Amino acid sequence: MAELEFYGATGQVTGSCHILRLGGRTVLLDCGLIQGGDEAERGNRGPFPFDPADIDAVVLSHAHLDHAGRLPLLVKRGFTGTIHCQKATAALMRILLTDAAHIEAGRVRRENRRRSDRGEALASPLYEQDDVERTLKLTSGHRYAAPFEVLPGLRATFRDAGHIMGSAVVALEFDGADGPRRLVFSGDLGQYGDPILRDPVSPGPADVVLMETTYGDRRHRDMAASLTEFGEVLERAHQVGGNVLIPAFAVGRSQELLYNLGKHFDDWHLDRWQIFLDSPLAIEASEIYWDFAHLFDEEASELFRQEDFMPSLPNLHFTRTADESKAIAKLKRGAIVIAGSGMCNGGRILHHFKREIGDPKTQIVFTGFQPRGTLGRRIIDGTDTVRIHGEHFPVRAQVHTIGGFSAHGDCEDLLRWFGDIEPDAAGGRAAVYLVHGDPEATASFQGRLQERYGVAAHMPQVGEVITL
Ligand SMILES: [Zn+2]
Repeated sequence: MAELEFYGATGQVTGSCHILRLGGRTVLLDCGLIQGGDEAERGNRGPFPFDPADIDAVVLSHAHLDHAGRLPLLVKRGFTGTIHCQKATAALMRILLTDAAHIEAGRVRRENRRRSDRGEALASPLYEQDDVERTLKLTSGHRYAAPFEVLPGLRATFRDAGHIMGSAVVALEFDGADGPRRLVFSGDLGQYGDPILRDPVSPGPADVVLMETTYGDRRHRDMAASLTEFGEVLERAHQVGGNVLIPAFAVGRSQELLYNLGKHFDDWHLDRWQIFLDSPLAIEASEIYWDFAHLFDEEASELFRQEDFMPSLPNLHFTRTADESKAIAKLKRGAIVIAGSGMCNGGRILHHFKREIGDPKTQIVFTGFQPRGTLGRRIIDGTDTVRIHGEHFPVRAQVHTIGGFSAHGDCEDLLRWFGDIEPDAAGGRAAVYLVHGDPEATASFQGRLQERYGVAAHMPQVGEVITL
């Protein structure tokens, strides 16, 4: 008897977590944080719909927190099984989960100052560094295309999803109600033709497909148009004499931005700028990217061979300490600042916003998806004031969204990936379940799948159980 229960990232983008039950054993596919506002925060603290001690193993698609960020909580609450992931994912998890625990500790410290002033009971963190260390000890790293046993009777294979370093599409093989079954879980899918990473690899045949739909309702501008647009933003910033602030995810976006800046150094006249990677986490993630250079695509591999270090940017500054970061503020113009967090719900980008978001000369460039409830989403939606660290600031900066740099494939990428899944011998298509999208994006993708492939995909509800 094999069953799949839908839990996280069902009808929404974050909190990826699906429950696979197989002959009395239970495996989780991802165990991610819910992101975006107070309600998300409560969701993360709430109970799991299972006893973590009863989970036998976790198969993790990639290291992003909305896929891996609740693993330390799972461990804290009793999970002792193995966490299977790609080798680069294991390396990235160390820095991402450590950072998450650090941010959580800071948040709880601030919260408890308020609570103790009011004489209220103190809050405790979601998890601490100890829990992270115990989580990391449970990870088992695998190579792409190398099948491994998750449990007796359950085999898994990771294939490159082209989303961030180590990101994987997971193919799971087991015996179902009517014989051998193959479940393919997309994780998050990257764009075809993205820099540094290889394109998403076809997962082979499948009976059941569980796939993300983050951008199921739209096309990105293509990479060439996005690069042109980015060059224009830099030109404009130079002419009006402002700085360029780029909120970016530490893992993936930051490295691709640096890569593109290095590649277009002359076209974009970057010699007249100072470039800052203002995020200790992104600096560490960059080092991990270079460590896994054997996973680069052809162009990046070639550059890596020539330069031995990427990117080649003579005016790039890694600002690790808070003092170095504060020193950037002295530059009133001519600074390109890449800082976290990508969704602007924390991190050094907020300090830059406080100083510069009220200045019409400032250019803010969004390059990644901004979920509902995040500050990034409000800025993109055109709010005229923002509240940061309890203070209000008018938004007068120019705001740009450059979709072509997204780590997620757009609807055409998703359709292409689905089209690469081989139909069965009778030409039949897999049963498809759509997750990891806002409901409108998922519904739109459902229509596109029907139109392109004649497939009636299903949008599951939280708690829905299907027999495999
Ligand atoms: Zn992701």
